[in-house]
Amino acid sequence: MTWVSHSVVTYATMFVVTHNVYIAGAAMLGSTFPDRIEGPLWQMWHRSYSHWFVLYVAVMALLWSPDILSVNGPFLWKEGLGHTARTFFFWFFAGALLHIPEDAICGPVPFLYPTKRTTVLPRLFRVRSVGEFFFVTGYCMLLYLLNKWI
Ligand SMILES: [Zn+2]
Repeated sequence: MTWVSHSVVTYATMFVVTHNVYIAGAAMLGSTFPDRIEGPLWQMWHRSYSHWFVLYVAVMALLWSPDILSVNGPFLWKEGLGHTARTFFFWFFAGALLHIPEDAICGPVPFLYPTKRTTVLPRLFRVRSVGEFFFVTGYCMLLYLLNKWI
């Protein structure tokens, strides 16, 4: 999936689930992290450790606290810089975690072992294809309808 598609799908998903623009924005910024961290030599290790869900779940568990779900943007700074950073990075890495199933519907990703890519979900389209455009558009339309019913 392209970075634009990752950003759109992640933002739409997180906004519909949380109804919070700060959470959706932080997740959107993190949605391209697994690809960006691979750097200029990405072809050597594309979709290995950077796309292993276990690392993101572990980081999110370290950042977790019960109040992480109640993000009130304008008042977030009153809690202090540490709390604000922890909250931002929790949702940032939630976006990075969402990147993995988004990639899994257009190719293999690591599952049990970080260096062994497997087909976890059926391939729905090829990256940068018209199928990707229709998937992202259809997915956002579906979320829009679900959001109206919820
Ligand atoms: Zn990726």
